[in-house]
This record gives sequence, structure tokens and C-alpha cells, in this order.
Amino acid sequence: MGTQFILSTPPPPTSIQQPLLSATPSFPLPKTHHTTSRKRRGRIHIHNTSKFGNFLDLKPEHQPETFDFDLPWFHPSDRARFDVIIIGAGPAGIRLAEQVSLYGVKVCCIDPEPLSLWPNNYGVWVDEFENLGLEDCLDKTWPMASVYLNDSKTKYLDRCYGRVSRKKLKGKLVQGCVSNGVRFYKAKVWQIKHREFESSVLCDDGTELKGSLIVDASGFGSTFIEYDNVRKRNHGFQIAHGILAEVDDHPFDLDKMVLMDWRDSHLGNEPYLRVSNSKFPTFLYAMPFNSNLIFLEETSLVSRPVLSYMEVKKRMVARLRHLGIRVNRILEDEKCLIPMGGPLPRIPQNVMAIGGTSGVVHPSTGYMVARTMAVAPVVAVAIAQCLGSTRMIRGKQLHDKVWNSLWPIEKRLVREFYSFGMETLLKLDLDGTRRFFDAFFNLKPYYWQGFLSSRLTLNELLWLSISLFGYASNPSRFDIVTKCPVPLAKMMANIALEYF
Ligand SMILES: Cc1cc2nc3c(=O)[nH]c(=O)nc-3n(C[C@H](O)[C@H](O)[C@H](O)COP(=O)(O)OP(=O)(O)OC[C@H]3O[C@@H](n4cnc5c(N)ncnc54)[C@H](O)[C@@H]3O)c2cc1C
Repeated sequence: MGTQFILSTPPPPTSIQQPLLSATPSFPLPKTHHTTSRKRRGRIHIHNTSKFGNFLDLKPEHQPETFDFDLPWFHPSDRARFDVIIIGAGPAGIRLAEQVSLYGVKVCCIDPEPLSLWPNNYGVWVDEFENLGLEDCLDKTWPMASVYLNDSKTKYLDRCYGRVSRKKLKGKLVQGCVSNGVRFYKAKVWQIKHREFESSVLCDDGTELKGSLIVDASGFGSTFIEYDNVRKRNHGFQIAHGILAEVDDHPFDLDKMVLMDWRDSHLGNEPYLRVSNSKFPTFLYAMPFNSNLIFLEETSLVSRPVLSYMEVKKRMVARLRHLGIRVNRILEDEKCLIPMGGPLPRIPQNVMAIGGTSGVVHPSTGYMVARTMAVAPVVAVAIAQCLGSTRMIRGKQLHDKVWNSLWPIEKRLVREFYSFGMETLLKLDLDGTRRFFDAFFNLKPYYWQGFLSSRLTLNELLWLSISLFGYASNPSRFDIVTKCPVPLAKMMANIALEYF
């Protein structure tokens, strides 16, 4: 079934008694010491409940968690030499370690806290994880997603969405690493040095580890990866404030996650916020777990320069107040700041990259986790072909091969197209954005789903653009004709730079 949409108010919320598709997520829910019933709240003083809608004064209750895993550690006295040293034990680093070690390649993964639980909340499309055999690493799924374009138009997307269980995903990947003999080292890497066929990393405790290939998986803040000077590093930024909250009640259906809520009626009494939101819009992303537990994230899809974090929070306060969502407790909070688009790292270079630092983040959406899970096996094969038991390809040839496995020319061109999508989104105000997504989700599911999951070929993307123009309303076509030429020219120039 394709995308469905209605032109009136959404259907009534699903009854709270209705069974959910998947089991209740395994969040560490501290015991509640107060009632959450609206009737009783008037009579009882509840110390930790926010003023109506204003949750900013509540303190997040989250305590950093660690894994109880018996990791095989690297001991400096071993004087071991590795084939691959991976900097960072986030989703990208651990996935690559798990995959490349399958081939008997000797791997060491270095992180200041290898056993800590990843801090971010990750959402993915369920089919993406199913295709990778990782569906058992989701702790909650929703059969549909909704996109509120405005007060009278909502689209229902017939595609299952899931919340990644950080515990299960990291547990599964680390288990694979342990079985395949990956070593871990608890430290921060300060410096990388290169010789012709060998590199080494220097850690903050003075330890030096040697290996044939260093892979940087240290996330967006990395300083180890180099960029060409030819192209300006003109990233856009996704910024968002998210909370996992215990609430009295919320208005969202329990069988749908809210991919985007672009309604702005909550800003009726906030003239300043309304004006700025109509120029640089933010939307609500929400994952309702049950009628009292919900993940809420006010999100600027992409902005340049980055939208103020305080502004995002203020808009969220106004939105929750308008939706009648009273936050009683904040179980987790997160500041999301994701650089999007911009040029790729220099290809090739002595240090390989994967994850946030490698350019794989989707330039138009900010999604990255599913893509990283999917590309790590491809990069692992390229590494194994060079460093596996029968072959000894090192130095420049190795770097060429691994970088081109992550970024073959076709993928680089496709990424230019996604960056074009980002540049176009940057030019749209709230009304333009609504019209854009109205047309986008009218596309055949193969195209919109493929676009969001970075699965389309260059030809398919060209076809998508033509179809999008066909589906667009007249004002939206006007937007495309007036606002796209500059991003289009930039894309063509970048494609020319890649090819010639
Ligand atoms: C709040 C937030 C929410 C997000 N939500 C989603 C989402 O829903 N879906 C999605 O697809 N993407 C999401 N993203 C984008 C992206 O998927 C994440 O940022 C993801 O965590 C990136 O993974 P990574 O392994 O590349 O880096 P990270 O997760 O940042 O991990 C890097 C690791 O390297 C370690 N490290 C750093 N420097 C060093 C050093 N010098 N030496 C040794 N170790 C080092 C760090 O301690 C860390 O453990 C989100 C991002 C953020 C910030």
C-alpha cells in the first residue's frame, strides 16, 4: 500500500488499551512517587512536575549506564601489532570492528569508555534493519508514521519505523567483536603518525599502538580527517532538543510515530517565535511508547548558520503547552547537532574514516545509523582483501581501495544530489517546506523510501526529481523554478569537480 493522506483532521487517537505492536521498551524507568491522574493533581502537590508545558526547569534523571561485558583488553606490555586500529566505539566503530574481524583481521578498538551505553536516541525504518538482520535490535516499532503538514492535512506513511535499542545493538555487535578476537583499549587517541606501510596512534596515557590501517570512527568532532581546500566546508546543521518524558497524557496515536509535525498553531500568541518559525521552521518528531511515556524532539531539519538551541527549546515549550502535554519527569534528554552535507573528506588519505566523520550522514535528513550498519560490511571486505591472511596490500594501495569501497564514484555523485536536496530545503520557508513534503510523500513509495534510505541510483534520483515536479502544486513549482537554479548550478559544478 502506498502513502495515504487525508485532507481533514486526523482520526481519533488510538485507545490507550489497544495492544501495541511490540513489547514495551526496556527503558530503565525509575519508580514513580506520585500519581499522574489529572483528577488528583489538583489536590496533591507534585514537587517535580513542570509548569504547564514548560519542562525546561525539570532535571533529567538519566544516569550514564555501562555494559557488564568481559572485554578482551589490549595490554601495552603485549607489544602487539594490529592490522586495523579503530578510533571510537560508537555505532560506526563497533560495527566495523565486528565486520572486519570476521575475516581473521587483527583489530583493536580504542575509546575512552568502551563499555558505556551510547547516549543518542536512534530511530530507523524497520526494513533497513531487517535487510541487515538487525531487527532484533529494535525495542519498539510503529506500523506507520505520520506527517502533519498543517492543522488540516496529515499524511500517513505506510512504512514501519523503529526505535533502536542501544543496549541490544551494542550488545550484539560487541558480542561479535569478542567472538572474533577484537581487542579493546580504554584511552583517547591524541595523535596519528604514518610511515610508508605502517601507522601508529598515540594515546593520552602515553601508550603507542601500531597497525597497518587506522580507521577514524570518532564521530562528528574528529580532527584526524583532512579535507581538500578547493571546496568550502559549507555544512548545514540539524539541531534538535529531545526528551524521553513521562507525561500525563499526549494526543498522538500509539500505533504511529510522528515523523514530522509542521503545525504552527502553538505560536499564535508568540509573534516573535511565529515570524522566525515561518522563516526557519522547526517540527516535532515524536515516538509515543504508551500514553504516559513519549520521546519528543523539536527539530530544525537543516539550517545554516545553525538555528539557536534556545530558540528550538522555546518553540518546544510553546508546542507542548498547546498540545496539552504536561511533562512530569524527564528520563533522558539530548542535544542533537549534526553537520549535514558539505564536501567529502579528501579521497584517499592515510587515515580511513567511517560513521559521522566519513560523510555518510544523509545530507537531507541527518540519518546515518542504518547506512553505517550497511556500509561497514562493504568496507570490511575491502580491508580483508588487502590485509586478510593471503594478501598483504598496504600503504597507498590499501588507502585507495578502502576509501573507494566507501565512496565509489557513483555514490559520490549520488551524494551531490542529496546535498542538492539539502541546499533546496535551506531555501524554503515554512509554507515552502510544507508544499515540498506534500509533493514528496505523494511520490511512489519506492522513490520516497529509497530517497530517505539513500538507496536510489543517480538515474532514479533524476526520475524522482521529474516526478516531484509533476506532483508539486503550482506554488511549489514556482519555488522549484525560482529557488533551485543556484543549488543546481552548485551541484553541477561539484559533479564536474568529482569527474574531471
Ligand atoms: C542526539 C543525536 C541523535 C541522533 N539521532 C539519529 C537517529 O535517530 N538516526 C540516525 O540515523 N542518526 C542519528 N544521529 C546521527 C548519527 O547517527 C549519530 O551521531 C551517531 O552516533 C554517529 O555514530 P559514530 O559512531 O560515527 O559516532 P559517535 O556515536 O559520536 O561515537 C564516536 C565514539 O568515538 C569516541 N571518541 C571520540 N574521540 C576519540 C578519540 N580521540 N579517541 C578515542 N575515542 C574517541 C567517542 O567517545 C565515542 O564513543 C543522531 C545524532 C545525535 C547527536
